[in-house]
Amino acid sequence: MKIKFLGTGFGAPYKNRHQQSILIEVGSTAYLFDAGAPVCDILSFAEYDMSKIKTVFISHLHGDHLNGLNDMINLAEFFNIRCDIFLSEQRGIEAFKSYTFMQLRRDSDRVDFKLINEGLFYDDGIIRVSAYQNDHMKGLPCYSFLIEAEDKRIYITNDLSPDLCDLPDISADLMMIEAAHFDAETVVSKCNTLDVKQVAFIHVMPPEKYEELKAQKADFEPLYPNDGEEYEI
Ligand SMILES: [Zn+2]
Ligand SMILES: [Zn+2]
Repeated sequence: MKIKFLGTGFGAPYKNRHQQSILIEVGSTAYLFDAGAPVCDILSFAEYDMSKIKTVFISHLHGDHLNGLNDMINLAEFFNIRCDIFLSEQRGIEAFKSYTFMQLRRDSDRVDFKLINEGLFYDDGIIRVSAYQNDHMKGLPCYSFLIEAEDKRIYITNDLSPDLCDLPDISADLMMIEAAHFDAETVVSKCNTLDVKQVAFIHVMPPEKYEELKAQKADFEPLYPNDGEEYEI
C-alpha cells in the first residue's frame, strides 16, 4: 500500500500544509480519505491520473475535510473521474447533490453518493474499510477509519474528542492520528498504550506542537509527514 499525504494541515491552510486529504493506492487503484481543499488542484498540479480514484471517504462534515470535493465532482468529466463518494451524514449527501445540480444544471452521472455505516461498510475485494464513530462532533456522525489491504492495517483517526476516550484499543501497522485537540504528552502517551508500529502525526495544531511531539518518548516509530510525501507499508 502506498500512502500519499496530500494535505496534512489542521482546520485552516497554513504554510505548506493544505487541509486534510490522504490518498491510498493499492496496486493501480486509488482511494481518497477526506477531501480537504484544494485536493483537486494538488492532484492536477502533480499530473496525477484522477481516473484511478475509485472511492472517496469523507469522515465528517467539517469544511477542512470536504471543501475540495465540489471541484472533484464538478470537474469529474474533465479529469475522467468516476467514483463512489461515501459521506458521514445524509444531509451532506443532499447538500452535495444540490450544489452539483446548481453547477451542472443536472445530476452528476460520474459520482454516486453513499452513506457510511458504523462497522465494516466497504469491501471491494481490494480494501476493506470499517468506520468507528468518535465523539468529535458530540453525537453527530464523525468516523475514524480502519483500512485493511495486502495484510496490512491502517487506522486514520480523523478528528477526535479532546479527552481521547474515543480512540479504541486498536492494533495497526500504521496509525495516522490528529494532534489538534490535545497536547503532545497526552497523545503520545496514549499511542504508547496501543499496538501500533508506526504513528504519523497529522492535523497538528498549532504548528509549534511538532517540536513538542518530537520531544516525547515514543514506543513506536513516529512519523511527521509533510504535504506531498509518500510512504509505503
Ligand atoms: Zn479537522
Ligand atoms: Zn472536525
